[in-house]
Amino acid sequence: MNPLLVKFDNPFDTAPFDKIESLHFLPAIQEAIKLAKDDVEKIKKNPIPTFSNTIEALDQSGKLLGRITSIFFNLNSAETNDEIQKLAREISPLLTAHSNDILLDQDLFQRISQVFEQKDKLNLNPEETTLLEKTYKSFVRNGAKLSSEQASNLRKIDQELAQASLKFGENVLAETNKFIHFEKEESAIDSLPEGIQEAAAQLAEEKGQPGNWAFSLDYPSYIPAMTYAKNRELRKTLFMASSTKCAKGDELDNQEVIKEILRLRFERATLLGYKSHSDFILEERMAKSPSQVMEFLESLLEKAKPKAIQEIKELEEFAKKIDGIEKIEKWDFAYYSELLKKEKYALDDELLRPYFQLEKVINGVFQTAEKLFGITFSPDTNIPTYHKDVTAYEVKDRDGKHLAVFYADFFPRAGKRNGAWMTSFKGQSGIERPHVSIVCNFTKPTKSKPSLLTFNEVTTLFHEFGHALHGLLANGKYESLSGTSVFWDFVELPSQIFENWCYEKECLDLFASHFITGEKIPEELIEKIKKASNFQQGYQTLRQLSFALLDMAYHSQDPKSITSVFDFERDIMKQTDLLPKVSGTLMSTSFSHIFQGGYASGYYSYKWAEVLDADAFELFQEKGVFDAETAQSFQEHILSAGGREHPEVLYKRFRGRSPKQDALLKRSGLVSENLN
Ligand SMILES: [Zn+2]
Repeated sequence: MNPLLVKFDNPFDTAPFDKIESLHFLPAIQEAIKLAKDDVEKIKKNPIPTFSNTIEALDQSGKLLGRITSIFFNLNSAETNDEIQKLAREISPLLTAHSNDILLDQDLFQRISQVFEQKDKLNLNPEETTLLEKTYKSFVRNGAKLSSEQASNLRKIDQELAQASLKFGENVLAETNKFIHFEKEESAIDSLPEGIQEAAAQLAEEKGQPGNWAFSLDYPSYIPAMTYAKNRELRKTLFMASSTKCAKGDELDNQEVIKEILRLRFERATLLGYKSHSDFILEERMAKSPSQVMEFLESLLEKAKPKAIQEIKELEEFAKKIDGIEKIEKWDFAYYSELLKKEKYALDDELLRPYFQLEKVINGVFQTAEKLFGITFSPDTNIPTYHKDVTAYEVKDRDGKHLAVFYADFFPRAGKRNGAWMTSFKGQSGIERPHVSIVCNFTKPTKSKPSLLTFNEVTTLFHEFGHALHGLLANGKYESLSGTSVFWDFVELPSQIFENWCYEKECLDLFASHFITGEKIPEELIEKIKKASNFQQGYQTLRQLSFALLDMAYHSQDPKSITSVFDFERDIMKQTDLLPKVSGTLMSTSFSHIFQGGYASGYYSYKWAEVLDADAFELFQEKGVFDAETAQSFQEHILSAGGREHPEVLYKRFRGRSPKQDALLKRSGLVSENLN
């Protein structure tokens, strides 16, 4: 008996982790795909397609498949092994083929179209309208309205695009792995933190030069070297290697690959009837259009640039004072910034850790949620988990009614990937309540020492918990519009806004007390944290903007005009580049976010989400960070609403107006408060 294919006999219908073995997945998924296909066939047998028997039925279809695949892929991220990884390679193509079978099903699409054409006569509420539009569009955006010749052209473009992106990534990886730099004199590396020196010595040994020190372009080697190496030549060598990646005109050069990717994306967008790739992407974003994104970026640029210029000047004076450096070069920036930051704030992780004992922080997070939304968390050992380090909680609402299941998985182990994320094991729809999980990699407690977090880890926990609230409080009718199923540039609002509470004394007092003495975190330390978080915000903002502007420039026009990647990048970056240009360097050729990952025409969303979270949190600051009415409104219009309506509509209901940049500018010190 396959435990994935029988009723889950656990509290709240939770996943049977205690019974599942790897060998259960493939047959269960094959069976669930069959059942999902049956669901679709049933929809196609209806004599007359209606909203209910077609659109709603499609949202309801394939539920078992959804549950099993989320269990499988969540385990592949948090508790994997060779067997599961091998299975993933087998299972992924099955799922792609299944989803293509549905999206390319002309008979099904005709039925959806028939319902869509009657849209205005059906008396649908906003949530139903959104579901209808989203369903229809997902088919159209995948080519359902194209002639068969055009459609096969689209498939060909998709294949070529996948190949080109793969090639881009392989080249970047090969260049990264190819480079190694050795230092023979201890004086060249003695300014580095001890742990970094050790790692450099170990790398040298691995690379056949024991007794020396080696540096690579992998971040854990490169970033500390650029930040702490006093040796200017070493910094320059590493910088040049990193900034000429895949731009040397050899077989690993990515310039032609970039042109190919841009051409294919443009062709794909125009085939589907859009003006550019950006127009295609932004149709499904809160920002809506390239012009709105450009306006957004340019207005931030105007605010950030003067501040960035001041910051560079301050850094230059500092570098001159301590080392007699006349002109700051790109390879000097991180090094002198770190020294200046130390001099200005004297704040380090070890100073803060004793105030952030993990158990207390978790309790603080729960208390914050309780004060804001009235929800409570109690551990429930009857709920099976996939590892002994995972704790399962039952979450109840204000009235003590069951709301959700929450899994917390905090410590690193082999088989868990790096980073922190929120995910779910069961979606929410109607009266079905969700099972939400957050996964992190915090330092594990030992017998003698509790787990003490850095401040950065504290904000990470709040961030992921904010995503979790979006899931836990979800209250939609349809699973495909519920919880975090929102536009990409809106999904970080709940997570990022929640980080703001970490800087509020009222919230910190709930949990930030010394793990030995019990003393509350001193007010001056909180002030220091706030100030340090604004260090070089002008420059950092400008840097983010430069990437976002380059991304938009590449994707919002016909790329035919791009003859030289060098010239194109230089022209676009001119407006944001405040340090001397170094000839031969190129960032596009290793800009993996947009040429390999999914960020094309989406890089702006980092800043976009910051504007939203600062603007939304400002209302809490005005009314009180635990103000019940504001919290209630945020829950109703944002956290519970999921994607039932356009994010702009939802946001306006909460804030009473469209988002403004002012709060972010104020928070990051880009305007003085008195001027407002
Ligand atoms: Zn996030």
